[in-house]
Amino acid sequence: MAVVRPFKALRPRQDLVERVASLPYDVMNRKEAKAMAKGNPYSFLHIVRSEIDFPSSTDPYDKKVYMKAKSNLKVFEDDGILVQDENAMIYIYRQIMNGNEQTGFVGSTSIDDYVNNIIKKHELTLLSKERDRISHFDACDANTAPIFLTYRDEDRLNEILTEWTKNEPEFDIVTEDGVGHVVWAISDLELCKEITERFSEIESLYIADGHHRTASAAKVALKRRQENPNYNGNEEYNFFMSVIFPESCLNIMDYNRIVHDLNGLTEDEFCDLIKENFIVTESKGPYKPVIKNTFGMYISKKWYRLELKKGAIASEHILDTIDAAILEKLVLKNILGIQNLRDSSRISFVGGIRGLKGIKARADELDGVGFSMFPVSMAEIMEVSDSGLIMPAKSTWFEPKLRSGLFVHKFDSFIVPAGDGLISEETKEYIESILATVERKDGNQKEFVQAVTEVLHSLGPVLEKHPEYQENNILARIVEPERSFQFRVPWVDDEGNVQVNRGFRVQFNGAIGPYKGGLRFHPSVYLGIVKFLGFEQIFKNSLTGLPIGGGKGGSDFDPRGKSDDEIRRFAESFMTELYRHIGPDVDVPAGDIGVGGREIGYLFGHYRRIKGAFENGVLTGKGLTYGGSLIRPEATGYGATYFGLQMLRHDKTDYKNKTVAVSGFGNVAWGVCKKVRDLGGKVVTLSGPGGYIYDPDGVTTQDKIDFMIKMRTNPNGKIEDYAKKFNVEFFPGKKPWEQKVDIVMPCATQNEIHPQDAENIIKNGVKYIIEGANMPTTNEAVQVLQKAGIIIGPGKAANAGGVATSALEMSQNSMRIAWTAEEVDLKLREIMKNIFNSCVRSSARYGFGYDLIAGANIAGFTKVADAMISQGIY
Ligand code: NAP
Repeated sequence: MAVVRPFKALRPRQDLVERVASLPYDVMNRKEAKAMAKGNPYSFLHIVRSEIDFPSSTDPYDKKVYMKAKSNLKVFEDDGILVQDENAMIYIYRQIMNGNEQTGFVGSTSIDDYVNNIIKKHELTLLSKERDRISHFDACDANTAPIFLTYRDEDRLNEILTEWTKNEPEFDIVTEDGVGHVVWAISDLELCKEITERFSEIESLYIADGHHRTASAAKVALKRRQENPNYNGNEEYNFFMSVIFPESCLNIMDYNRIVHDLNGLTEDEFCDLIKENFIVTESKGPYKPVIKNTFGMYISKKWYRLELKKGAIASEHILDTIDAAILEKLVLKNILGIQNLRDSSRISFVGGIRGLKGIKARADELDGVGFSMFPVSMAEIMEVSDSGLIMPAKSTWFEPKLRSGLFVHKFDSFIVPAGDGLISEETKEYIESILATVERKDGNQKEFVQAVTEVLHSLGPVLEKHPEYQENNILARIVEPERSFQFRVPWVDDEGNVQVNRGFRVQFNGAIGPYKGGLRFHPSVYLGIVKFLGFEQIFKNSLTGLPIGGGKGGSDFDPRGKSDDEIRRFAESFMTELYRHIGPDVDVPAGDIGVGGREIGYLFGHYRRIKGAFENGVLTGKGLTYGGSLIRPEATGYGATYFGLQMLRHDKTDYKNKTVAVSGFGNVAWGVCKKVRDLGGKVVTLSGPGGYIYDPDGVTTQDKIDFMIKMRTNPNGKIEDYAKKFNVEFFPGKKPWEQKVDIVMPCATQNEIHPQDAENIIKNGVKYIIEGANMPTTNEAVQVLQKAGIIIGPGKAANAGGVATSALEMSQNSMRIAWTAEEVDLKLREIMKNIFNSCVRSSARYGFGYDLIAGANIAGFTKVADAMISQGIY
């Protein structure tokens, strides 16, 4: 018996419904699709016909076209163009054309019902056409358009349709073709249950339109089952989305035929053969059949009425009585020699919606012969389907067509069952023993101890599930850097004095790729800071999904107040030692606090001079003229904002009209200001070590954003300059966390949020903290914030956009190509969403619920731990 169940549809935002809704993917060619979507970035054709976003020379079946559909769907979701319903519901969809209405239920129907012939078909499918939608659904992890099903009317279901549609609809639009589309969501979940129960008493559902899509959805489901041997049958991928209309309201139109030539016959010879089985009468005008067994024929600009002679065909079998089969056998095959309608290039089809004019136009154009048909009935289709038979090819044309984009059914294939989070005493002891050793050996490196403590405290349930990690003593190994260097950096200041600083590079873990991590030039830098950053970097880099290991470096050199020449001389001296430890396949540093484009330029220039080779993959964050990537300067801030967007989306909201408190006014803060503005919010605070500014209008204008760069690159720039320039208030000695805002984004440095700040943040009603900086929140403050229900996007995940884009820069360098800003931005956005999803999944899988801190630690750890085990004892 038929399964029809509620689902959480992804639906267009109310104000965008008309712009999103598109015709189905298979009723237009590529050029028409491109023209329809022109100037409308919201058109759903960007998803169902994503080849329109490529030049016309691109193969529409290329993998990148399906990947584009996937990323476009993500963008629609991320930008709130499509929003998922919180509750699983059944919906009602009504279409109105020329005064006729068809009203049906929208629900998810079962792949098993399709396989077991409870959902019946009447058409054969072509593997080549299936392959297209299999790739599309598989890539999108969703059904992007509903299947058109029908069933024999049932009184109570009809009553529900009548009653519920008296309510206010979700929307009521008329599309450019004059067809009305009205949708209701059945928010009464008990009623949804009743609908499911009613359908469970219905013997069969019938596919009216969408045979290829159904077959494709079934194959994707079977593939998913193979990939998940523990599937329980309830996962969304076991269902596909359908609109299910009662039979009585459907309107089937004629589907007409044009044969391009007369198979070598003269017109007279052809007509004589026709007359053997049909009574032929010339018609005064275009002839549209009004009863079964009659046909119109258009040839040499004249219309004829053809009536099947009695006894012309033995009508024992249902298929022999269907007009399309009669014409196929007696005319198309026997006279015109077309053996297979599906693959013959000598025949075209014109849907009834184009009228007799459509037949005439096509036949005139080809100088062929056209046949107008009497439409098949629903009863005939059901009888053929019930008999397990196949209708003649191209015999049904349903109008109006279901619009695409009004509903999307996500498979959510990658949702994992929640773990119990239990940890044995033995595992707890193991973790504590490692922490005790770190404390004993490195207790004076308090930032490093803090970072290790935070990560290890998330790993209990992971160790419980993977005893091999403990057996291989992974924790003891992962807290010890593979290698670390400390070196003297002598340089000469502008007065001719010799100065000396300390340089560091910690190559923490190279199990999954070359060490990668920034260089920090700041007076606070010592081994403990570099080790904490390097340790965090292991997990961050692993989270990006890219093959990069963790490392970090820097110096206690203070660039503030230094001249350009001094910075260059310092950078050259620093590289004179560092060069022997790095390389494109060994260790690839980048910037961090105090190291931006200018410093990377000096460092790279000196490396090149020493090595005598242009190895631009050795550093990232380079200038565009010598191998840098577009978007790299903005990437950390953009990435953090995208990560935040996922956190907001998780709670069905976004940045629109939200205020954000940001600390710092450097590189990360700058990217955040720009992207938050682009996504409809505003950053209202910026800070430096000496205090913060509050700008109620937001750091949104280009003027203000450009001024941030000026302040940052000016060796004497300080945050007060912003207050003076834009006439806003400066709060000396204070932190921005005392302001009432919606979101907090620390983007300056480590340990900027202490328990007292956490209390302020809670008092101000903030719900989200998105860490642009590394470890800006102390472990004690995290506890206070989490207890109050504040969601924290941890730095190692949220600020991974910088290193991810560095890795994209490395790819461009090794391929010797440069991607456009849009390409890099899109990849970044996708990476951030993937990172968010891995955090969510890992947190749930190991029993932490929705805890992004634990999720980031776990997701980052497991990949590295597995790689370490595979590589032996290293
Ligand atoms: P940046 O350009 O040097 O900016 C740091 C900013 O923070 C400066 O405006 C600085 O002001 C301010 N600041 C420093 N100490 C402060 C304090 N105690 N209170 C308030 N403000 C303070 O550095 P960044 O590249 O933006 O990096 C910021 C944070 O993000 C760091 O934690 C870094 O590790 C992390 N991060 C950066 C990247 C990247 O790609 N750049 C990637 C991942 C993570 P002054 O100049 O006046 O000191």
